[in-house]
Amino acid sequence: MFYMIKKCPQCGVYTLRDVCPRCGSKTVSPHPARFNPQDKYVKYRVMARKKG
Ligand SMILES: [Zn+2]
Repeated sequence: MFYMIKKCPQCGVYTLRDVCPRCGSKTVSPHPARFNPQDKYVKYRVMARKKG
């Protein structure tokens, strides 16, 4: 199962629709559409660089 739930960035309402039923704004997925595992390591590298 996967969630199709979306959230209105304007009023913070959760909905299954692409458009907020309250304000009519376009809703967004509260979860990142894509998670890039490499991102984490890149961040780590940058942090390590700054520290060292
Ligand atoms: Zn809204």
